[in-house]
Amino acid sequence: SSDSEKMARVTLKRLSAEEEFPDLTHHNNHMAKVLTLAMYKELRERATPSGFTIDGVIQTGVDNPGHPFIMTVGCVAGDEETYEVFKELLDPVIQDRHGGYKPTDKHKTDLNSANLKGGDDLDPNYVLSSRVRTGRSICGFCLPPHCSRGERRAVEKLSVEALDSLTGDLKGKYYALKNMTEAEQQQLIDDHFLFDKPVSPLLLASGMARDWPDGRGIWHNDNKTFLVWVNEEDHLRVISMQKGGNMREVFTRFCTGLTKIESLFKERGHAFMWNEHLGYILTCPSNLGTGLRAGVHVKLPNMSKHAKFEEILKKLRLQKRGTGGVDTAAVGGVFDISNADRLGFSEVELVQMVVDGVKLLVEMEKKLEKGQAIEDLMPAQK
Ligand code: ADP
Ligand code: MG
Repeated sequence: SSDSEKMARVTLKRLSAEEEFPDLTHHNNHMAKVLTLAMYKELRERATPSGFTIDGVIQTGVDNPGHPFIMTVGCVAGDEETYEVFKELLDPVIQDRHGGYKPTDKHKTDLNSANLKGGDDLDPNYVLSSRVRTGRSICGFCLPPHCSRGERRAVEKLSVEALDSLTGDLKGKYYALKNMTEAEQQQLIDDHFLFDKPVSPLLLASGMARDWPDGRGIWHNDNKTFLVWVNEEDHLRVISMQKGGNMREVFTRFCTGLTKIESLFKERGHAFMWNEHLGYILTCPSNLGTGLRAGVHVKLPNMSKHAKFEEILKKLRLQKRGTGGVDTAAVGGVFDISNADRLGFSEVELVQMVVDGVKLLVEMEKKLEKGQAIEDLMPAQK
């Protein structure tokens, strides 16, 4: 054979697992904790039916070593089958991330807002806005880290067709990112309605920002209380939100809208990805189960300075963020307080934790405001 053929064969030689294994020595994420060379060796012989590989699963965790204190997940799914095909890696990651959730555990779904107790009376002097969101993946399409341009556009087309059938309060319109001006986009971001531009290295490295802004957009009703993000981190992010502290109304609209959307997709031959063990299947393993984040923007200038603030949040199974979204700092003592869990609790249970927990935090805030102690209000571990 000729020299050039020999050269081609040399270039195409498949390297060994040892030669390909990423350097994870300085990493602090769930993937890096679990992945060993032996496991990598085995998993690199596999691919999902759509061709997603172990290197696609772990790329974001390889490129983002993580923070010394904050554990990121460090891996993503490229399609529905990822969680099954690479379960030797993903089961322990899920177990670590979701409080010991075992491969044999079963997840429960409850989208009946009538089962929520109270929640219509969070003090609007403290609770500025209430929001519930989740993600949904559409069967038959690869997930954002792995989908092709055409698939992404098909998801967008299908979503717009389905959402355009919503009526009444939920009736709305789709705004494709590529048809919006920079100023329009920025206004929607500043008003907390639209996802941020793909600046986070976690998103970039996972592959889900490819071809931006092609196929991305936001659908919303006229008063922007019911919104659907298309092709951001998940195929769909469904959001219900409004000003003030009526979480019950927000959750009720969320459940009604989401249930309608699910049947609209089913009518078009596309169910949402779901199974008994993982609940709703989403791109990031941290969102499996309900995918639900119910949260409020709440004024806690005194509480947030209290020595036990973090401990109290933990006991209430709540997490805090800044009001500009994940990774932002609180401004003027206003925090985004939401449920910490996604998997192993139903939607109603998670919203109940937020309602009860936020009520208590506001009560504590009021006491601190008057210079009173809050020790008698300390909650037990939920
Ligand atoms: P998500 O979990 O939905 O990805 P992010 O933390 O990325 O949330 O925030 C997305 C956007 O939603 C941000 O603009 C954020 O300010 C807004 N947001 C989150 N919670 C609330 C809330 N309770 N009220 C108003 N806006 C909110
Ligand atoms: Mg986000």
